[in-house]
Amino acid sequence: MSQPQASHTTILRLFNTLSGQIDDLVPADGNELRMYACGPTVYDYGHIGNFRTFLQVDVLRRFLKLTGTRLRHVMNITDVDDKIIRNSASAGIPISEYTPKYVDAFFEDLESLRVERPEIIARATEHIPKMVDLIQRLEAAGAAYKTEDGSWYFRLRSFPEYGKLSKKDLSGMEDGARVDVDEYEKDSARDFALWKATKPGETSWDSAIGRGRPGWHIECSAMSMEFLGDSFDLHAGGEDLTFPHHENEIAQSETVSHKPLARHWFHVRFLLVDGRKMSKSEGNFYTLRDLLLKGYKASAIRLALISVPYRHQLNFTFDGLVEATAAIDRLRTFHQRVTQAALQAGENPEIQQMATKASEGYFAALGNDLNTAEARAPIFDLVRASNTAMDQGKFLAGDRDAVLQVLRDFDAVFDVLEDRDTEATRRALAWAEQAGRTVEVAPELVAGFALSDEEIEKLVAERTKAKKMRNFGRADQIRNELAEKGVILEDSKDGVRWKRK
Ligand code: AMP
Ligand code: ZN
Repeated sequence: MSQPQASHTTILRLFNTLSGQIDDLVPADGNELRMYACGPTVYDYGHIGNFRTFLQVDVLRRFLKLTGTRLRHVMNITDVDDKIIRNSASAGIPISEYTPKYVDAFFEDLESLRVERPEIIARATEHIPKMVDLIQRLEAAGAAYKTEDGSWYFRLRSFPEYGKLSKKDLSGMEDGARVDVDEYEKDSARDFALWKATKPGETSWDSAIGRGRPGWHIECSAMSMEFLGDSFDLHAGGEDLTFPHHENEIAQSETVSHKPLARHWFHVRFLLVDGRKMSKSEGNFYTLRDLLLKGYKASAIRLALISVPYRHQLNFTFDGLVEATAAIDRLRTFHQRVTQAALQAGENPEIQQMATKASEGYFAALGNDLNTAEARAPIFDLVRASNTAMDQGKFLAGDRDAVLQVLRDFDAVFDVLEDRDTEATRRALAWAEQAGRTVEVAPELVAGFALSDEEIEKLVAERTKAKKMRNFGRADQIRNELAEKGVILEDSKDGVRWKRK
């Protein structure tokens, strides 16, 4: 297993929905942190709200690794549920043909956003026997019952602790009232479906408890038990999952195990767009692909979605993306400058001190409930001060490593320094073309990707040669041609740099 070398041993203090306070997050077995994060329902392309949650879980996992914690992170893929069944039925294909496209799209999007893959990915439809087995154990415990149509429900009355995660007062809940949809609104705590009897035209499985298909909640209980055991360190998801999904998971798992399902519960606050709920009818609904095709860079989307700490409301705006783009530009330019600059020998104690302070500030902010906004600040301060010192010839060769180490630790979590944006945008363009999407691709974006990296490098080299031969006419011509295709050149004393607009 490749686990990172810890450069710091900060203990992460993280808000815990279950205890209602900030608790230390440490593996119970002192060795490996076992966590389960609810994954996507693959009925459509992921939107930026979904990715905000997956990105914040990525921040969590990367910070844990950076501070020396080994991880066993499980993510499920919900590839059978009400919405999938509805959509596949209207497309006239079985769910096994409907979902693969969205599973692939999801992983492609995670790659574009540089979200690390969990150690274990489990698809619901591949674990049906485990779910059936759990329902049988619930029945044996008197917590599951079968209805006349052959469906199975969880008996809420059998689990008095129901509501302990969401802190809802459920005293008025109707005894024996049932709900069979996977997602339902607050204040309607009722016996929920564990297994839904087969209906004509729906995908179903033969099993010891009858022919049918699982409800949504049972999959996470069955799969977390399978891969992490009865009780594990942390459970994660968006805040909407607290109730009923996570409450139901607790009821199912703890009824049979008599142990706490997870000690720590991590919930990411919902993303808003321009201050409103994101919805198709409001016209403010964006998938990752929508944004890439509008010309925004994947790294900027990543930075914008993680820079607001997970417990704060992120109000997504295009201005936020523009700000993130500029911030990344500054970081990348600085990184290149520090790496390549010819520096005089020696060390500047002021820079050394600043690097130490930036590093401490960075680790302290992330260690304090993953405060990504506060973690960014000392990094940008260091960049500013180092640039000034370099301009004045006061940044010395011995300062390079100290500053680069701070940038490395920053990037171990933020991961925006290396430019992989072109790949992400190219993938989105290829997808749009192949899917026959009539998207409004920004014209300058199309221009910027008209040339491959190699073609650009060739033209840049030709221009340098032309300048050497004092053929300035040709040199200007190449500069203009590149500009028309969305490539900007910057001449500096260290040579020519280029970038896409
Ligand atoms: P789904 O594919 O709907 O099951 O959702 C996948 C993940 O995205 C879950 O953890 C949800 O809680 C989360 N999620 C959905 N909408 C939003 C949103 N607007 N902001 C943040 N997280 C969200
Ligand atoms: Zn779940």
